[in-house]
Amino acid sequence: MNEPAPCPLCEREVPECSDHHLVPKSCGGRRTEAICLDCHRMIHVLFDNKQLECELNSVEALQAEPRFARYLDWIRKRPGERSFRARRPRRPRR
Ligand SMILES: [Zn+2]
Repeated sequence: MNEPAPCPLCEREVPECSDHHLVPKSCGGRRTEAICLDCHRMIHVLFDNKQLECELNSVEALQAEPRFARYLDWIRKRPGERSFRARRPRRPRR
């Protein structure tokens, strides 16, 4: 859980990774990928379990997802040891 390794998604060296279920556990997923906390948080902000299960169940699929790719472009320029607060992208509208 805390072996230093580059995150497979953003490819940054990070001090801590967490296991992400590429197919959510609730859907019978068994495969996990150790990804950084920033990516982990972002995945769950952007996507729900259904999407993760059906479409985004591999590192490649996530990297190809346009919104996630945009996040990756941004996070790769940031140092791995700092985490940020993921925010749900939402337009102020009323
Ligand atoms: Zn990452």
